[in-house]
Amino acid sequence: MQDTVNTDAVQNEMANEAYIQQLKATFDQLPNQIPLFLFTAKGHEDVFTHANRQIIRAFRELSPKITLREYDLDHEMAHKYNIIHSPTLLIAPDRYAIRWLGAPMGEEARTFLEILILVGLGKSGLSDQSLNVASRIDSARNIKIFVSPTCPYCPQQAVNAVKAAVELPDLVSLELIDIQSEPEIANQYAAQSVPQAFANDVLIGQGAQPEEVFMLSLQKLEPQTIFIPESDAEEVETDLVIVGGGPAGLTAGIYAVRSGLRTAIIEREALGGQVATTPIVENYPGFTQVGGKTLVDIMVSHALQYVQIFQGEAVVDIEHGQPIIVTTSRRRFISNSVLLATGASHRHLNVPGEHRLGGRGVSYCSTCDGPLFKGKKVVMVGGGNSAVTEALYLFHMGVNVSLIHRRDNLRAQDFLATQLEGNNIPVYWNTEIKEIKGAERVNEIVVYNNQTGETSTMQTDGVFIAVGYTPAVDLAVKLGLELTEDGYIQHDGKHRTKLPGIYSAGDVEGGYKQIVTATGQGAEAAMTIFEDLINPYWMNKDEKGVATG
Ligand code: NAP
Repeated sequence: MQDTVNTDAVQNEMANEAYIQQLKATFDQLPNQIPLFLFTAKGHEDVFTHANRQIIRAFRELSPKITLREYDLDHEMAHKYNIIHSPTLLIAPDRYAIRWLGAPMGEEARTFLEILILVGLGKSGLSDQSLNVASRIDSARNIKIFVSPTCPYCPQQAVNAVKAAVELPDLVSLELIDIQSEPEIANQYAAQSVPQAFANDVLIGQGAQPEEVFMLSLQKLEPQTIFIPESDAEEVETDLVIVGGGPAGLTAGIYAVRSGLRTAIIEREALGGQVATTPIVENYPGFTQVGGKTLVDIMVSHALQYVQIFQGEAVVDIEHGQPIIVTTSRRRFISNSVLLATGASHRHLNVPGEHRLGGRGVSYCSTCDGPLFKGKKVVMVGGGNSAVTEALYLFHMGVNVSLIHRRDNLRAQDFLATQLEGNNIPVYWNTEIKEIKGAERVNEIVVYNNQTGETSTMQTDGVFIAVGYTPAVDLAVKLGLELTEDGYIQHDGKHRTKLPGIYSAGDVEGGYKQIVTATGQGAEAAMTIFEDLINPYWMNKDEKGVATG
């Protein structure tokens, strides 16, 4: 055993070294210098200033092209660039208007690496579809993206904005604002969830958007939800398209490629699905306790050894036939089969105020938005594993959290329920939220006790909602697939839907909805698909999958 551990450690070190060498080679090839200017308040050494220096030092070791100059806030350079916050980091200010308020810590280190590479390259890397949209922007855009180091969705949205700033340096300026470093600015914009994007002080996006949707929102100065690609999209021929990069999709990708199938995974948001925002996972075999995001990173790097992942790309249409045409926001895939591993999305309470105050105190992601509520009072709604896990997470982060549950006992596992009690987290039983109130942001909820029939109000700064998920079946419905009574995709027990070549796996099929069951379903589906492509079961069936003899 000891030998195995040592071997693992040596292999990890070698992998890290190889990664660093690869990064150095990447920076070597960049044509441009990457000057960084760090502005800090004299005598005001905070954790963000310190973090900036450490992170920049680590990156500077990769390339002499990255240079750093430091200035005090009262230096004339600070006046020149109109810097009033400490720390503020300017990136290549001679060419671009990109500034970072805070420090690129945690998840944000990914964004920082992308910025350095794009700036060094001097190219935005926007897709052709996005470039078309960019060419229609003809007046100044001042972008603010609110981010936090614990938000796995943030880098995608931040990088979208960086690409816009690099593509249109004369029109687009960008501020990346860390909500923990700059809570006052976040407050001023009532940005209580991340990522949140503003352009010219107008909210243009909540959450991570596919690149083309972000660009369209930026152009139109209002949030867009869909981008219809133009028809000259690039084409990719493949055996299997997997829609969804959660545990089911990633596992299916690994199994499919190992069986010899050409495979592509398409994910419109953050990889990992719900797991990416689960604070702690304690029931995935092999890991006694692991952060959800860490587990996702391990799965993604494993999957990437086999399968190409198209992230930040939304599937907008699937045309069934032989072959099947999958149209995304960027290209078309011509495929022999499609696996729908689209997972599920947050269920809403559907009470007055919930939608209006979304991102203004109403949140569905405690790992993303929890840091904003340190020392504040919030309620967590729900009685399942998610609500209890997240209530514990907020509690340990220093948030004053209570649980609100509509019944008198929890659906969550005993192991979690005991911890709730052990930490004296108050629970309001038999209680339903009837309304969420607040002008600019949440300040009160109206609650109803379904046993006593009493209605009362409760002061609160935030409402975190974890009341389960609804399956993401939009594409399935568009395809005309059958759904179960509960709204999940109906399949034949081997993940075949009624349409030949279209399969399902993971939470979108219902069932136990555990990470371990989703990975199992992904593996099973990939094996069924492999068998069917070798020996097509639909050869003797009509369009509806009915045997024709
Ligand atoms: P869940 O198990 O479906 O629980 C949802 C909770 O929200 C239930 O307590 C439900 O109340 C309540 N609820 C539903 N609709 C509501 C409404 N309109 N108003 C108020 N309350 C409402 O969902 P989940 O906790 O998100 O978990 C989803 C799946 O992921 C589950 O299978 C769970 O086991 C799994 N999961 C596992 C882990 C883990 O093992 N570490 C962590 C997180 C999630 P009732 O109880 O009255 O129905």
